[in-house]
This record gives sequence, C-alpha cells and structure tokens, in this order.
Amino acid sequence: MTSLHNRHIKPLILAGLDGKNWHLQDYVARGGYESLKRILNEKIPPEQVIAELKASSLRGRGGAGFPTGLKWSFMPRQFPGQKYLVCNTDEGEPGTFKDRDIIRYNPHALIEGMAIGAYAMGITVGYNYIHGEIFADYDRFEEALEEARAANMLGDKIAGSDFNFQLHAFHGYGAYICGEETALLESLEGKKGQPRFKPPFPASFGLYGKPTTINNTETFAAVPFVFAMGGEKYAALGKPNNGGTKIFSMSGDVAKPGNYEVPMGTPFATLLELAGGMRDGKKIKAVIPGGSSMPVLTGDVMMATDMDYDSIAKAGSMLGSGAVIVMDETRCMVKSLLRLSYFYFEESCGQCTPCREGTGWLYRMVHRIEHGHGRPDDLDMLNSIADNIQGKTICALGDAAAMPVRAMIKNFREEFEYHIEHKHCLVPTYM
Ligand code: SF4
Repeated sequence: MTSLHNRHIKPLILAGLDGKNWHLQDYVARGGYESLKRILNEKIPPEQVIAELKASSLRGRGGAGFPTGLKWSFMPRQFPGQKYLVCNTDEGEPGTFKDRDIIRYNPHALIEGMAIGAYAMGITVGYNYIHGEIFADYDRFEEALEEARAANMLGDKIAGSDFNFQLHAFHGYGAYICGEETALLESLEGKKGQPRFKPPFPASFGLYGKPTTINNTETFAAVPFVFAMGGEKYAALGKPNNGGTKIFSMSGDVAKPGNYEVPMGTPFATLLELAGGMRDGKKIKAVIPGGSSMPVLTGDVMMATDMDYDSIAKAGSMLGSGAVIVMDETRCMVKSLLRLSYFYFEESCGQCTPCREGTGWLYRMVHRIEHGHGRPDDLDMLNSIADNIQGKTICALGDAAAMPVRAMIKNFREEFEYHIEHKHCLVPTYM
C-alpha cells in the first residue's frame, strides 16, 4: 500500500475545521474573503478572473466534471435582463455526504466562491438550493448569510466596490431528482421538480427563463482557494486536467467512514488507508467510486487506480460526486444491486417511459433473482432493459439506473448465475 507520506496530503476546504469555527470571524482569520476583496479592490477584469479559473483546471465537483472556467465563460455577460447564479446543494446520491459538511463547517467558503462567480459573470442574484432533509444545515447556511450581509460581503456595494450581489438560501423537500439541474430550477420556481427537455440549456434559458449558471457546492467552495494561491498552483496540486483537491465521502466497509479531502490523483489505496483500511481486516471485494449511479469496479482494479476523473474513466467507471462505497468479501452483489435498483425505481419522476417502466422492471427482476425465483435468461434480459433505458431518457436518472445493473453483471456475473441456479447466495453473509 502506498505510504501516506509519499504524497503531500493537505486539505483546503476542510482544513482546520472543528465544528465551532465556521463563523465569519473564524473564516476571516483563516484568510477568508481576501480573494473576493482583492478582485474587487484591484478591479480585476471578469475575463481575467475566468482565465485564472481555467488555468486552475477546476472541474465541476457535482458529478459531471465539466471544466468550471469554461462553464462560466458560457454566461452571456451582456444579456440585458436578470441573470442568475445557482448553487446545487441538493445532495441526494446514495453515498454522498460532502456538501452538507461544507455548509455545516465552512459555509463562508461557499459564499465567497459564489460572490466571485457572480462578479465574473455579471450576476446580481443567486440562490443556494439545499437538500430538503438537512434542515439543520440549511439553518446554519442562513446564519452564515446573515453574517456575510452584516460584514458587507454580500448585498450592495460589496467591500466598498460597485458590485452588488444578493444571495438567498432555498430548501427542497428531499426528492433525488431535484439534484438534476433543470428539475432543481423548476422546483426553485415553485413547480413540480421534473427535468426539462434540453436544449435549451440553463446558460441561455435557466431560472425564470433567464441565463443561469449552476455549480455544485464543492466547486464554489474551491474557488476562493484557486484565487488565494493562483490558478496554476492550484492545478499543480492535482494531475494535468484534474486540478486541485477533491473531497471523497468514504462509506461502507471501511474502519473510519467520513469525508477525506486529498489531491486529485491520489491513489485509491492511500485514500483507503486514510479511512482506516478495511473494517475488521476483511478483504476488499468491490468499490463504487463516484456515487451509487456509477459502475461498480472490483477491489483489485480499484487498488491499482488513482482517484481522478481520467484514471477512474480508464478503469471503467466515473469519479462522479466522489462518493466512494467500499464493499468487503461478505457483501452479496445481488442484494446490493437490489437496494440500488429500488432507489432509482422509487426516485424516477415518471416523465419518460423507458425510465418510468424500465426502472420498475429492473427492480422486480433483481428482486426475483435475490429471492430464489430467477430464470436462466434473466441476466440477458436485465442487460437488454438497461440498453433500452440508457441514453433514451430526458435526464441522466435513466442512465443512473442502468449503469449499475450492467456493471454488476459484467464484474460479478458468477454470483448472479449462482443465485439463479441455486436459489440462494454464493456468499456466506457472516464470515
Ligand atoms: Fe424523469 Fe426518469 Fe425521465 Fe429523468 S429519466 S425525466 S427521472 S422519467
């Protein structure tokens, strides 16, 4: 296993946080709001701010990994009407629990990052859409907003400049689909949270039909650090095209589950070591590296993989939101897939037929395999249903339901076949 001392592991967003030092004065003592004040006081041109962000190679931390600087450059700055900035804190992917820690422990990093983004894109109004099942964190963010307004880091003429930015918090009601950015916008407008057809994309037709930029919580929270150290230096923390640090939510069969912020490109083996290794010394069997919708990989493949967008893609999965679900040798893959399939079946918004019907078919077929009623052609049928969902729906939830099925069957086919043939599990549940 790679030694922790082989790499420089120093968090940025989560550095030195103890649960009490989240207030504005604590953040300022750590150098907070200096990036925003410098940009405003020195009147750094917005184009230069975006160029610095591009140099950082910061990529969206919500799942898609889209280059943030490029996304910001899509905003039509000269649009004559209102434009909006939206933060997506509707964190609902099973295994992901990093964004709630950011607003709980370091909310001003997010506020400063959004203010810098608003300045760069010429936006005066923003919203943070917070998942509806974390109300205490919503309250924390509201308190932080009040502090920032009182210190003139939000509102009119921020830090004595001509720049105005009003930022508001909004909470949803817990629907997973509202994490999809257009469903989030619908919900923010007070409508049923269902994804929109695209195009048009939010950059031209977003909140209330106006140009809107949406980024994930961790993405915005990283922005002040990019400007504090400079884009190139931030990029150099990670690997080419995978700049900076990333927070990984480690869960499952590890000794110390939790959030770990490490440089992009850190070996998975090192991350596992940080999380205390495998619980009870058991053997690693499988890992879902980027949230439950991403393809599962075998433990052996993961132990030889680095944690960055390109390396995980090369290994056959996706980094996604950075939710790393680790499974040991006692886990049954059929039962695990049953749990995942039920989640996507439950959370489908029902707008399009392949997703609405297909997620139900997937769930019911895995259910019958798990409970001893599987049929010999079920695995081919599952793959066929997944094929007919993936890429044929309005939003990515269809893909999210299909990908785990295909990957589970591909990597652990013998377990599924054993279940079908013997009508019980290959894996003794308690070892
Ligand atoms: Fe709704 Fe599923 Fe279609 Fe997405 S893919 S719009 S969740 S029915």
